[in-house]
Amino acid sequence: MNQPERVPTTLTRVPNRTVPPPLDVVAIRAQFPILAQLSRGKRLAYLDNSATTQKPEAVIQALDHYYRHDNANVHRGLYELAERATGAYERAREVIARFLGAQHDEIVYTRGTTEAINLVARCYVQPRLEPGDEVLVTGMEHHSNIVPWQLVGAKVVAAPVLDDGALDLAAWKKLLNPRVKLAAVVQVSNTLGTVNPVAEMVRAAHARGIPVFVDGAQAVAHMAVDVKAMGADFYAFSAHKVYGPTGFGALYAKRELLEAMPPWHGGGDMIRTVTFEHSTWNDVPYKFEAGTPDIAGAVGTAAALEWLEAVGLDAVHAHETALLDEATRRVAKIPGLRIIGTAPGKAAIISFVMDSAHPQDVGDVLNMEGVAVRTGHHCTMPVMARFCIPGTVRASFGVYNDAADIDQLEHALQTVKRLLG
Ligand code: PMP
Repeated sequence: MNQPERVPTTLTRVPNRTVPPPLDVVAIRAQFPILAQLSRGKRLAYLDNSATTQKPEAVIQALDHYYRHDNANVHRGLYELAERATGAYERAREVIARFLGAQHDEIVYTRGTTEAINLVARCYVQPRLEPGDEVLVTGMEHHSNIVPWQLVGAKVVAAPVLDDGALDLAAWKKLLNPRVKLAAVVQVSNTLGTVNPVAEMVRAAHARGIPVFVDGAQAVAHMAVDVKAMGADFYAFSAHKVYGPTGFGALYAKRELLEAMPPWHGGGDMIRTVTFEHSTWNDVPYKFEAGTPDIAGAVGTAAALEWLEAVGLDAVHAHETALLDEATRRVAKIPGLRIIGTAPGKAAIISFVMDSAHPQDVGDVLNMEGVAVRTGHHCTMPVMARFCIPGTVRASFGVYNDAADIDQLEHALQTVKRLLG
């Protein structure tokens, strides 16, 4: 019923290769200078990749190069530096578009996923909203895929989550009704690791004339995404979760939707003409990009996506799946530890609770052992309410994690047992 998306989407990117080449994790780790440091005097085991990922040399150098050699404002100057800065900034749009399987004029730069969702709420949902209208979400959404819809006055309706953390897809389908102005769904849950069957959900929603927004924040670093094959009307991601810089991201939207939407922020670059009486708007996507943008952010994001493409998302996926299987086997052996989110085909995120210790205390001990994990509600309070827990400890894996990280996590959890019972 609830088939995970990722295997088919991974294979659509590499149609002739079903067995990915192995990933050279030693060589990958060497490209992340931050990982070489000690934490609390121990080897650093960075397992908070769902919160943000570390940056490879390729990204650090791209940012450095941009500021050393190319910095100028974009779209305005006629001089050489401005041409280079504009070229790099617009080339990044091509890279992002290719990465998502979109056209470049369907990519709107934002500060990240959160800002992209607020843009869709203000410019797409709000103008269409009548009293009682709904945005249909799932019970596993990040707060950023709940609150923006509330802010524009929509009634947020959530489909239930099953005991293993999978979406109750049948219940979700039953909630599709004429009052739903938009279905908004997370592709990969940042708390449960659940991979939602977004292509099937898009088909079901479209059959009832309902457009779909997909939150790709936790997906793009771990699986190949093709927004056209998926059929999503809107798709968003944040660069910092895909080895790129913080404060940058993108919204994909079908061109005809962007054309029909009013602008959001007013200011420079988003206009064609301005008088004191009346202004007219620039073409899409610039209509949504007022003011001097984060030019270096675009450059760094392109470097990150090209770096990840060179590693190969099929290899990343295989590597992280192997890590997930091994880490799950090892942590599940710890007495009194319960994993929250065990849906088939889940992504490499392990949320858990321990019966003898509060998540924060577990996190403190792990920190003393050099293991960086996230504790708390992970901006998904409704998930905590659903599972009747105050929070979880979350270990989330990325391309540079290795067997030593799993050893260190297991050892640190044994220390928790010894110290906290
Ligand atoms: N959606 C999901 C599923 C997330 O995990 C996050 C970040 N934790 C966001 C949205 C928001 O991303 P950002 O803070 O980069 O805007």
